[in-house]
Amino acid sequence: VQGYAGRKVAVLGLGRSGLATARALKAGGAEPVLWDDSPEARAKAEAEAEGFACTDLMKQGAFDGVACLITSPGIPHLYPQPNKVIARALDLGVPVDNDIGLFFQSLGAADWAKFDTAPRVVCVTGSNGKSTTTALIHHILQVAGRPTQMAGNIGRGVLDIDPPQDGEVIVLELSSYQTDLARALTPDVAVFTNLSPDHLDRHNGMGGYFAAKRRLFAEGGPDRCIVGVDETEGRFLANQMAQGPEDDRVIRVSSGTKLEGFGWSVFARKGFLAEWRRGKQMASIDLREISGLPGAHNHQNACAAYAACRALGLAPKLIEQALQSFGGLPHRSQLVGERNGVRFVNDSKATNVDSAAKALQAFPKIRWIAGGMGKDGGIAALEPFLGSVMKAYLIGHSARDFALQIGNTPHEICETMARAVARAAEEAEPGDVVLLAPAAASFDQYPNFEKRGEDFTAQVQALLS
Ligand code: ADP
Repeated sequence: VQGYAGRKVAVLGLGRSGLATARALKAGGAEPVLWDDSPEARAKAEAEAEGFACTDLMKQGAFDGVACLITSPGIPHLYPQPNKVIARALDLGVPVDNDIGLFFQSLGAADWAKFDTAPRVVCVTGSNGKSTTTALIHHILQVAGRPTQMAGNIGRGVLDIDPPQDGEVIVLELSSYQTDLARALTPDVAVFTNLSPDHLDRHNGMGGYFAAKRRLFAEGGPDRCIVGVDETEGRFLANQMAQGPEDDRVIRVSSGTKLEGFGWSVFARKGFLAEWRRGKQMASIDLREISGLPGAHNHQNACAAYAACRALGLAPKLIEQALQSFGGLPHRSQLVGERNGVRFVNDSKATNVDSAAKALQAFPKIRWIAGGMGKDGGIAALEPFLGSVMKAYLIGHSARDFALQIGNTPHEICETMARAVARAAEEAEPGDVVLLAPAAASFDQYPNFEKRGEDFTAQVQALLS
């Protein structure tokens, strides 16, 4: 990290991104001052590297001489309650930033003269489909032989990536928790997949949530804006970033709607992807047989990734070939077992209502495992999608609330994953899909959605073995 040599920088939150931040600051000659409310996290940080010392940032004078406070994405800063350390920094006039801001600040200060072809940064945000779209862009670039690295909200912290090579494309998945605070956010290509309610307590409602995501699209910002226009917010954003419908700075993306009258668009209809540019069709791709991208929601992701790769100058044929070999991501519509015509699908990442709705539309007869830590608004909005649900097997903290909200749909309170899988498998008939699509966060029973998906998979495998 450039720009803080010889200065103190406070780091709040010592998870993966916090530790990567501390290491990167130190490598850039800064003096990191670390804190985490959890004693275990502090002990781990101090054990991690010599010279990492923790200082209670609420202690009198702890911010003396501190140039900046870097916080982790998991720490709420204003809502539902202001974090006390962040509030203190703000009162003292200390700038607050995060690792994403540091990343762009450092990139801005890099020695650009040493590159023949400057590295480019693609950032992907939105409510759903971020990881799939990010991984897909990265995969296509790899197959095309372009140097590329992937980081952000997916696997690897941004400050853990290797120094960019000539012509490299860095693909970052950014959640609203990350775009919200970053002081510098200057991607070359910005992608907005879609918008539906999520994390509303943290952003004080839908307006704050959308505003956080829109920060990727600053005035004078990205060269190309890839915008999903299936919701009003996306259409608004696309219109704001373009000088009229003909402007091909914006590539509009839709799953379902023909978009022919625009400067540049990519849309999926009836299983086919179409690219239109200035009134001419440039490409058509059959998405129906691509096993890594099942369902209309994945066709939206394919369109967004296709558009990003076109914005980076890749040819349609090359992208089409690369799409074929995408294997999909675990915990997203992942087939984990099959017996007597019953399929078991792990969509543990369906943590909100919209992603669960997409999963419920992907199969005709569903034994639905749902529940966990319910979100604001519950699941009443899923009502139109319950026609395919033969029965719901409800788990976790929200089980009883969900039972009330799904009304007449047959259901059973199972509490645990083990029981839910056993009961669903017992009652399933050939053609049914036993689907884990919780429509809730995992934190009541698991450390994260991955562990929840692994538990489901393990239960299924035990049953089938
Ligand atoms: P994110 O990183 O935004 O959470 P993922 O690609 O991990 O997105 O997918 C999250 C969940 O949403 C999964 O359950 C997946 O099946 C579903 N999903 C994926 N793409 C979309 C989309 N474009 N629209 C709605 N739901 C989606």
